[in-house]
Amino acid sequence: MKNRFFPFGLLSLLLSVLAFSLCACGEAFCVRSFDSMGAFMTVRCYGENAEDACRAIEETVRTVEKEISVTIPGSTVSSINSAADFPVKIGGTTKELLVFSLHVAEITDGAFNPALFPVSSAWGFPTGEYSVPAGDEIRRLLELTDFRNIRIDGANLYMERGMKLDFGAVGKGFAGDCAAGRLAEFGVASAVLDLGGNICVIGKKPDGSDWRIGIKSPWDDGVAAAVSVHDCSVVTSGGYERFFVADGKTYVHIIDGATGFPVENEILSATVVCRSGAYADALSTAVFVLGTERAVALWQARRDFEMILMCRGDSVLYTPGLTGSLSFIHDFKIVEIAEE
Ligand code: AMP
Ligand code: MG
Repeated sequence: MKNRFFPFGLLSLLLSVLAFSLCACGEAFCVRSFDSMGAFMTVRCYGENAEDACRAIEETVRTVEKEISVTIPGSTVSSINSAADFPVKIGGTTKELLVFSLHVAEITDGAFNPALFPVSSAWGFPTGEYSVPAGDEIRRLLELTDFRNIRIDGANLYMERGMKLDFGAVGKGFAGDCAAGRLAEFGVASAVLDLGGNICVIGKKPDGSDWRIGIKSPWDDGVAAAVSVHDCSVVTSGGYERFFVADGKTYVHIIDGATGFPVENEILSATVVCRSGAYADALSTAVFVLGTERAVALWQARRDFEMILMCRGDSVLYTPGLTGSLSFIHDFKIVEIAEE
């Protein structure tokens, strides 16, 4: 659960660290770290106004969090989730994110589903009070997760009573896009935002080279690969991020909406690389749920993202668009996915 053990203000005070200096190439830069959306975030901006830009990023991320959080009482999404009657009014960020999420839910055939909160709550993922729900309860709750029963008509949102939204799989990527969109105001053309592992890079490094982004290993605490990119988002979903073990079985925090159970397939981590942070975030979750075969089929059909799948048996698959920009730290069984 987000900040369960700390008063929010105290934690953010402790973690809002700011450093301003010059990099080797002589460009001024600022690094700022803060805690938001249940994650530790670090942003680095280059340019004369880097300090103000970093502050604006933190402010933007916190504004998005206050609107879409499922754990902050009184957030827009919390209010929707506790509504007794529909329609409720919807607009701004929440509407934009819901429209986008329903689109991704549609194109991934529900692998990404922003309406799984009743089921993930039964497993205890939002609170950390984990338990394995009874099969009957999962079946009953699954009835409340059909994203096709969510309808937006102008400023009105219609859902069935008991349905609940959760933007946990897309919110950090979306917030990164919102924050990146503000950097031009500050004349910042070079920045890297690490929003709890959701990476968004703006431009190139001040020396003109690409950013090299490490991809965490699902096998140990290190980095398994690195990808060189510019103007891009790199987002990873991994079962290792949050899970619990009951009766010797591991249950990860990403739910397969088809069964109501935590995902169990050969993928240990799914990384998506594309321009939009929201799309990369939502798709990395979807790809994790889909499993290798259906993830490859999705990529074949869309071709608007690249991906790296780290799988059981030390194997790694990646899409050919990453050839030349991807390097591996270990000797895995590496497979480049065929074009067709
Ligand atoms: P991520 O780490 O981006 O893959 O997002 C995982 C979070 O999204 C979980 O902690 C839940 O809040 C939520 N979630 C779990 N399963 C799904 C799913 N299949 N589709 C959308 N959101 C999900
Ligand atoms: Mg995600």
